[in-house]
Amino acid sequence: MTSIPNVIQELTELLSALPGIGKKSAQRICFYLMDRPREEIVRYAKGLIDLKDKITHCPICHFITEETPCAICRDPKRDETVLCVVEDSLDVISIEKTAAYHGKYHVLGGLISPLDGIGPEDLSIDQLVKRLDNVKEIILAINPSVEGDTTAHYLHKIISRHQDIRMTSLARGIPVGGDLEFTDEATLTKALEGRSDMNGRHHDQ
Ligand SMILES: [Zn+2]
Repeated sequence: MTSIPNVIQELTELLSALPGIGKKSAQRICFYLMDRPREEIVRYAKGLIDLKDKITHCPICHFITEETPCAICRDPKRDETVLCVVEDSLDVISIEKTAAYHGKYHVLGGLISPLDGIGPEDLSIDQLVKRLDNVKEIILAINPSVEGDTTAHYLHKIISRHQDIRMTSLARGIPVGGDLEFTDEATLTKALEGRSDMNGRHHDQ
């Protein structure tokens, strides 16, 4: 039996830990890369290191960025009286693709999940509360799930102390257990337009 070289074994193991990549795919990627020109491999390596060294989270909204604050927070054309609250940066990217939203964002960095030991203090909720002064509407664009609902409920409790802030949530055109990231742009745009007040009234603007 021929033994697989260590280098390949190690890289296969690393790759197979990536989301959506099994052992077989990892091995296939490994063999594919082995045949690529060296300069291409250097670009992969550099890309990965840059990802770690150059990307940070915006100190205001927590979206991923190379410059702080991020381009969305810096954009004077965006309505800062409307904040769309999302679980992670991928959700911002999905909503930006619709081009139907012109307010700003707040990225929570996860959802409240007592089973996983994630509480409100582990998310950027404190920073969200600090941003509420000039805010007129908070749109909760959180994926429907047990954790999503727990988080929405918690945020609703905190934000309803500010009586002048309207709280809305995305219309449930998004399938339960679905993910904003995988929702097509037309559905997401409709969900934004049809958002409803969290006390049950339909959004009437
Ligand atoms: Zn930002």
